[in-house]
Amino acid sequence: MRDYADECRSVSVSFLHKHGYFNSTQSGLITWTHGDSKNSISIASHIEENNDYIRFYYTQTNRDTGEKKDVDYKIPLVSTKCHFGGKRWWFMCPLSRNGVYCGKRVGVLYKGGDYFGCRHCYGLPYSSQYENYRSPLLATMNFMFKAEDLEKKMKRRTYAGRPTKKARRLARLCQRARPYLASLQMEKML
Ligand SMILES: [Zn+2]
Repeated sequence: MRDYADECRSVSVSFLHKHGYFNSTQSGLITWTHGDSKNSISIASHIEENNDYIRFYYTQTNRDTGEKKDVDYKIPLVSTKCHFGGKRWWFMCPLSRNGVYCGKRVGVLYKGGDYFGCRHCYGLPYSSQYENYRSPLLATMNFMFKAEDLEKKMKRRTYAGRPTKKARRLARLCQRARPYLASLQMEKML
């Protein structure tokens, strides 16, 4: 089964956790494929007492002008204790709106413009009124939010070597989101 992060342009803490980014300082590449286009970002986690963050760095190409710009920014990480021991990690949204820093504690960051940020910053409500999917953007956000909620509820992806019911639902959801994702140029959003 493919990861949710491969399907939708987002990064989740569970994806990073699974790939060991919270165990120690580690760097790597995340790639999304939509049809013929491929997008990658470089990430590097920095795990240190009271100064945990993840660095995102990539080249952003403007689809209209072809102009390239390098972005490089840090996303602070916070951890909370789980009831049964261990830690749960969260991103703190790095975006600012009207000069006000967001800093919301979230499990998933979405790429709505040049930068990754929380669903609140990208400003679209999660509501059944968008089920009509008149706009590919609203449809995609709706799919992403549903997938995020589903992922939060999911305790495990496989059971006895087979995908769980929720994992299969998530896979179907991402499958349905694909045509919308393909028709959407998310860089234009901001
Ligand atoms: Zn935010």
